[in-house]
Parts: sequence; C-alpha cells; structure tokens
Amino acid sequence: MKKCIVIGGGFAGLTAAAYLSNSGFKVELLEASPKLGGRAYSFKDSSTGSTIDNGQHIMMGCYYDTLKFIKLIGAEDNFLFQKRLEINFLTSDSKLIELKSFPLPYPFNLLFGLMNFKAISISNRIRFLKLFLKLPFINIEKLKELTVYDWLIKENQNEKIREAFWEILSVGALNTSIKKASALTFAIILKEIFLKGNKSATIILPKYGLSESYCESAASFIRKKNGIINLTEAVERMAISDGKIVEIETSKRKIDDFDFVISSVPFHAIKKIIPQLKYQKNFELSYSAILTVHIWLKENMLKEKFYGLINSPVHWLFNHDDHFTIVVSDANDLIEKTKEEIFEVIYSELEQFIKIKKSDILSYKIIKEKRATFIPSKEILFNRPKSITEFNNLFIAGDWTDTKLPSTIESAVKSGRVAAAQIINSLQ
Ligand SMILES: Cc1cc2nc3c(=O)[nH]c(=O)nc-3n(C[C@H](O)[C@H](O)[C@H](O)COP(=O)(O)OP(=O)(O)OC[C@H]3O[C@@H](n4cnc5c(N)ncnc54)[C@H](O)[C@@H]3O)c2cc1C
Repeated sequence: MKKCIVIGGGFAGLTAAAYLSNSGFKVELLEASPKLGGRAYSFKDSSTGSTIDNGQHIMMGCYYDTLKFIKLIGAEDNFLFQKRLEINFLTSDSKLIELKSFPLPYPFNLLFGLMNFKAISISNRIRFLKLFLKLPFINIEKLKELTVYDWLIKENQNEKIREAFWEILSVGALNTSIKKASALTFAIILKEIFLKGNKSATIILPKYGLSESYCESAASFIRKKNGIINLTEAVERMAISDGKIVEIETSKRKIDDFDFVISSVPFHAIKKIIPQLKYQKNFELSYSAILTVHIWLKENMLKEKFYGLINSPVHWLFNHDDHFTIVVSDANDLIEKTKEEIFEVIYSELEQFIKIKKSDILSYKIIKEKRATFIPSKEILFNRPKSITEFNNLFIAGDWTDTKLPSTIESAVKSGRVAAAQIINSLQ
C-alpha cells in the first residue's frame, strides 16, 4: 500500500486526503493548528455560548468540485441548498429588493429575474442585460489586461449599475475592489455562475458551524478509510535527495516512511517549508482581508436567511436566528481600526439599513482575517503554480495554486482533487 503525507487540513488538504484514502492509499494528514478547517472553521464563543464561524462562507451551485467532495464525505445534509436563485438586497432606506429567478426554463428564468431587478432603472437594466447576453460570446483571453472596473466601463455599465449589482457580486466573489481585480477571473466566474444551467447560480449555506458542517464529516471519512489525522503538528522542513522528498521534519518528529507528499499549506507557509521550489522566485501574492462581525440582539426582526446591502461598506448580513453575521469584504483599510471604531462603522450602516438601535444590541464579536484571500490581480493570473513540482513525489494544492479560480473553497477543493488525481493516475 502506497503512503501519502498530506500537509495542511483546510479544504484542499481534506479533499486530497479524502480522495486518496478512498482510492486505497495510506494517508497521514499533518495539521499545524489544533483544529481542522484552515481558513474556514467554527468555534464556540465563550461569552454567548453560540457556535460561530471565523467568517461566514457561502458556496454556489457552480462549486462542482466542492459539491462532489461534500457528497463523498457524506455531508450533504449539513448544507442548505436554494432551489432557485434568490437574493434579497437592502437599500440605505431599508427598502427590500429581490433578485429572484423566475419559474421558467433556463436561461429565461435568470434573464427575467435580472430584468426584474428593481434596484436599477429600466434603461440601466437594458444595459445590464446586454452584457449578460454577450457573456457566452466573450473571448475571455481579451480581458487579461483589464481590471473588472476597466471592463465594466468598456461595457457601458455606469455607476448606478456597478453599485447596485456588479460591485456586490465582484467584491463578494473576489474579495477585491473592482479597480484591482482581474476582469478575466471575473468573466470566468460569471460564465460558471450564469451559463452552466439552472442550479449554478443558486446559493448554498452551511446549516451548522463550519467545523460541524464539513470538517467532522471529512475527518471521520478519512479515519474510516484507515487514514491518520495528526493535529498540532507543524511541518518545519523537508529534506531532498535525488529529486525527491525523502524526509519531513515536523515540530514533533522526523518522518521518512512515505511515497508521496501533498502540501496544501498557504503560499506564505510553503515558502518556509520548502524554499527550494523554483516557481517561488518570480511569484508573490498579496492578500485581502475579510472582517466578520457577529452581533447578538435582544430580538430578531429579520425574516430572510441573508441580505446583500447596496452601496454600503457592509456587504452581506446573515441571519442565524440567535445572532447576525456581518461580512465586510475587501476590508484591508477597515481592519486597521480599533474594535470600537469598527463597531461604530458597522452600527451606523445597520442603523440605516435595518433600523436597529444601540439598545437592541446585547453583544458583538469582531473577527479580523488579514490574509483571508489572495488578490486575483491580472499580474498573478498566469503565474500560479501547477500541482506537479520539480520534485517527483511532491505535489502542491491550495486555493492559490493554478485552478484558474479566485481564492475560494471551490479553488481549494479543486486543487486538492487534482493533486490527489496526479498521484492516483501516476500508478495506473
Ligand atoms: C473570513 C473568510 C471568509 C471567506 N468566505 C468565503 C466564501 O464565502 N466562499 C468561498 O468560497 N471562500 C471563502 N473564503 C475563502 C476560503 O476560506 C479559502 O479559499 C479556503 O478555505 C482555502 O482553503 P485551503 O485549504 O487552500 O487553505 P487553508 O484553509 O489556509 O488551509 C491550509 C492549512 O494548512 C495549515 N498549515 C499551514 N502551515 C502548516 C505547516 N507548516 N504544517 C502543517 N500545516 C500547516 C494551516 O493551519 C491550515 O489549516 C473565505 C475566507 C475567509 C478567511
């Protein structure tokens, strides 16, 4: 039986470990922290007793690899699947505006839904729809030198349309301002969301805390297949001989009884473990923060599961019954402020958008994720490394590797599946 060491227990590492153990490999997963999940996990908040996520995560119907992984580990029942696209937007005068697909065959369901989106005027909706109708015919290669902003201007998407729709979608998906994000990456995800059938544009949310929703199922699947998961064991370095990894040194021991290694750690971590990798010399990533604010209120007056806020620094509000979760994407500036200053910014938005008062708030918790996602700028697009490396038993995974996708769960899961497949296929 061939043995593979998987380094890192985020979505990418768990996926690689699940596929390999399912294919009869002996898998040992090494995770530096005391928990699985990497950048997507949950924990019990000590002051309120609620289970909260380090950051609300949303998935979409076009997360094909993620959906397959969730099915493989038997976690499908832990997620809420929309039957059709439905997003409720709020305006600063607390008006509710729906974006809802129509009960019509695809693609008319989406086109009618977009045409009925009352956050923009009829004449702007026509401009907006023109871009959607062009989407299947756009040669994305031609977008590689453009930012999302450049492209939207070129396509006559004025400020009103950008604020009411494109910015929310682009900043939500790419966690980067439209002036920095690559138009090519954005066009790839627009095609995935809107051109791949009925389900692709639907939203999928975890039913429980993230750890319960997928980490526990993944861990028990891997263990059932005789895999081993070691937490609180960081890989510190790897020894190379004859073009192969021959030894892994961790914070606890040295390991040399393996055939293959998959590293699924973030880019900033892999640089330390194996600085010899060639691609690193011309490659750098910069990061965007996400700010999450959990708020407990005396009374929950909201009906919907989540809301998008139009033209606000607060992008999304999720309703968890006992608390709300506020998501601020592209938050590099805001996270530098103190917790009190951040709370004031969030509060003044909520005061306008959902008319809450300070006296309604019981408590709040702010979570700052500085390196939440890498910035998908046009500069890094064609430089991301593939899973195969110059060392013939070392493969790399992680949302930042060359999946063509932005820094998302789907990119992480795809990278883990591809790295595992390289190993499985190499033996056939
Ligand atoms: C607040 C927030 C909100 C987000 N929202 C969304 C969303 O709504 N939708 C979406 O699709 N994506 C979202 N993302 C992005 C998503 O979480 C990531 O793309 C994904 O989790 C990355 O998974 P990964 O396995 O590639 O990396 P990671 O999750 O970073 O996992 C890497 C793992 O490697 C471990 N590690 C590091 N160094 C070592 C070492 N030396 N030895 C052993 N282990 C090591 C780390 O501890 C970590 O567990 C969000 C991210 C954040 C932070």
